[in-house]
This record gives sequence, C-alpha cells and structure tokens, in this order.
Amino acid sequence: MADITRRQFFAVSGATLAGSSLALMGFSPSAALAEVREFKLTRATETRNTCPYCAVACGVVMYSLGDTAKNAKEAIIHIEGDPDHPVNRGTLCPKGAGLLDFVHSPSRLTHPEYRAPGSDHWQSISWDEALDRVAKLMKEDRDANFIARTADGSTVNRWLTCGILAASASSNEVGYLTHKVIRSLGILAFDNQARV
Ligand code: SF4
Repeated sequence: MADITRRQFFAVSGATLAGSSLALMGFSPSAALAEVREFKLTRATETRNTCPYCAVACGVVMYSLGDTAKNAKEAIIHIEGDPDHPVNRGTLCPKGAGLLDFVHSPSRLTHPEYRAPGSDHWQSISWDEALDRVAKLMKEDRDANFIARTADGSTVNRWLTCGILAASASSNEVGYLTHKVIRSLGILAFDNQARV
C-alpha cells in the first residue's frame, strides 16, 4: 500500500464522504449532465422524420429553435433516434447519427437545379417550375411512346422510355402508394435510391 499521511487520509475520506452524500441526495454527476441536456431541448420544437440515407428508414426526432418566435431565425439544433419508432427504437447508425452535419452542410442542395440543353451551367429554379417541367415532359413522352398492345394483339400497357428512381426515406405506406402510381402509368424501369 502506498505511503499516505494522516492529513492526506482525512482529505481523501472527506471528499469520498461528501461525494457519496451528495449522490444520496440526488446530486449525481450523471443526473446533472442529463439536466443540462434537457434544458438545451426544453424550448425546442420536436419534429418526427425519417433518416434519408438508406432503406432501413430509421425514425428520427429533430429539435428546432426559432420556428415559432417572431424575428428569430429558425434552426435545427439537435437530431436523435426516435425511441417510439418501430424500426430503430431510438438507435441510429453512424451515418444517421451525423444527420445534423448533413442538414447544416454548406454544400447541401436545397432547391431544384436545371441545366438547359447545350448549356455549361446549372441554374436554380423553383419547385413549381421543376414539377411543372417534369410533369409536362412525362406527359409528352408517355403520349408518344406508350404501348397498349403488342403486334399480335396482347394487352401490355407499358411505357418503356421513362424510368423512376424513388427515395429511400419512405414509410411502407408511401412506398406502397408510390409503387401503385408508377406501375399504373405503365413504367417498368423502377428502382430505389437505397440500392444506388
Ligand atoms: S440511421 Fe443508418 S441504418 Fe438507419 S436509415 Fe439512416 S443510414 Fe440507414
């Protein structure tokens, strides 16, 4: 046993006793740390969402500030796994755990971009413009290329000149509806971003 003076012995014993007494009264360091975290999120708005990265589609809770106050700039301050979500029960893999950095990344694209035929640059357009353009081009292509019957008279109702890449951050219900819409248009080339 290491040499210890009488003075050192009482100093160590006193500190231990004070620490254990405080712990008995509820002042444990872990409780104190948990309080700090709770204060950080107390006034935040909770929004439930789905991790966009892969087909596991884990549920997340996003905490934001400033979205209900006047003259305050809204910002997402914290993202964690949703403990009530049946897929992940509050857990996230390292990619999902880094979602806050993804949200705040300066290189994250937050609007549609369009590059005109022959152009060497992309330009920002609104969501309305983008969706109108996609709908118009799909309609034109389907009208021109839809095949209702083959040469021998078999009904096929297929549209082979258009393909769809769906997003992975979808619930089962959204995936089911997306599948129904795409197939009802006659599209066969249909895949999911989660496999890319
Ligand atoms: S947290 Fe990980 S496993 Fe879950 S959906 Fe996101 S990337 Fe996939």
